[in-house]
Amino acid sequence: MALDLVGKLRAAVRDVPDFPKKGIVFKDITPLLSDPALFRASIDLFLERCHGRKINKIVGIDARGFVFGSAVAYELGVGFVPIRKRGKLPYQTEVAKYSLEYGEAEMEMHVDAVTAGERVVLVDDLLATGGTSAAAALLIRKAGGNLLEAQFLIELEFLHGRNQLDPTPVASFLKY
Ligand code: AMP
Repeated sequence: MALDLVGKLRAAVRDVPDFPKKGIVFKDITPLLSDPALFRASIDLFLERCHGRKINKIVGIDARGFVFGSAVAYELGVGFVPIRKRGKLPYQTEVAKYSLEYGEAEMEMHVDAVTAGERVVLVDDLLATGGTSAAAALLIRKAGGNLLEAQFLIELEFLHGRNQLDPTPVASFLKY
């Protein structure tokens, strides 16, 4: 990956302190998304890791994982699957609970979204503590999916979220 490209992408991620609550520095990717060259470049980073891997489905996490995941699926010519916060998906679902800083949350996937043996890549904008993506990985595995890798535009390395995803391989492009 070209260093100047990484620098440009990093420069387009805006830090918003104390959002959504005090003490959290929110990584706002909207400046990156609104720049056509940078948006395209960010999709290309995911695509470079996906080429030649015989992927059947891209699974994206609610909601910014949909932005990247659907573009990647379109370009690869494969299906896209949404994993959503509880209560948003209309059909029968499988549910996975995970811990937040305070309390618990739940993610859902349609029961027929991933079928046994399908080769799947999980996509989201950001890996923080790893709770969300670990729940998503569990849903994919429960369905019998072969989870090849979890890919993130941004990784907050100091939170060690990739440990939660073990043994799923993790790829991230902008590390903080
Ligand atoms: P986690 O379960 O802690 O890995 O959180 C990951 C999810 O929360 C991702 O879908 C992110 O979009 C969102 N998220 C967590 N922390 C941040 C942050 N500092 N800035 C932006 N998004 C975040």
